[in-house]
Amino acid sequence: NTPTQFTQITEEDVAAVFQPRKRFSHKGTFGHALLIAGSRGKMGATLLSARACLRSGAGLLTVHIPQRGEQILQTAFPEAMVDLDPNQEHFTFVSDIKPYSAIGIGPGLGKHADSAKALEHLLQATDKPLVLDADALNLIAANKDLLKRIPPRSILTPHPKEFDRIAGESKNSYERLMKAQAFATEHQVCIILKGAYTATCTATGNVYFNSCGNPGMATAGSGDVLTGIILGLLAQGFEPETAAVAGVFLHGTAGDLAAVYRSEESMIASDITDMIGKAFKQIK
Ligand code: AMP
Ligand code: MG
Repeated sequence: NTPTQFTQITEEDVAAVFQPRKRFSHKGTFGHALLIAGSRGKMGATLLSARACLRSGAGLLTVHIPQRGEQILQTAFPEAMVDLDPNQEHFTFVSDIKPYSAIGIGPGLGKHADSAKALEHLLQATDKPLVLDADALNLIAANKDLLKRIPPRSILTPHPKEFDRIAGESKNSYERLMKAQAFATEHQVCIILKGAYTATCTATGNVYFNSCGNPGMATAGSGDVLTGIILGLLAQGFEPETAAVAGVFLHGTAGDLAAVYRSEESMIASDITDMIGKAFKQIK
């Protein structure tokens, strides 16, 4: 057992992660992500995550969405491929997950009972690490039996309320952090406890604090962008812990660049995605 460490993520650490692309690489080199997201009224979350995923360098992205979302997605985001759910309005079934190098699930997913069953099925069908966010976390909170089915090395990205739904209320943020750290080691997953100074708790018990980012990021869809970034990095073959830590830093850096351009007051989630490119350039 490695001793527990509390570390601050530095730009140098993250810069070392991103190596220049090889001249003869092709889109297959950078993986194929599957994003399972969206339900009626929440297709925007899907788009925000999807765009952030490809902006983070994934080679290919397929988005699994309910049928009603097809035109929205294909019109707004031509770079993504679409895999349609049998259902019109929410997630009920995903057939073949073999082709994908990484899978993310949750943004805008909704909490329909069918979706809970489909999530359970997905957790049983794979032992690859997943990125679990938003309603995927809420569905797990509603059926704690699912906790033991989460593939090891998965990345969970709860904001404090989502974490409390899973792990129970905490009296203060210190207690919540200690619980997140214990949860990560117990379930052998990575918990990204989001907020100002996001804490990434790893399966080995380490905690990485992020100090970049700003209160302008407290805006609708900001977390969906983070999910997309981490999924994009995971799809490219980065280890889950690296994808988590580097993803959190990239997201915060893009948020800081967006605040310079837009102001904290005015920035919206897609402004963060628009700055991912500049964030890469700044970090490297
Ligand atoms: P969500 O609540 O799922 O939309 O996620 C919000 C995202 O914005 C997370 O990545 C947070 O870390 C980030 N965020 C929210 N508030 C702040 C803040 N005050 N400072 C820095 N980052 C923040
Ligand atoms: Mg969220």
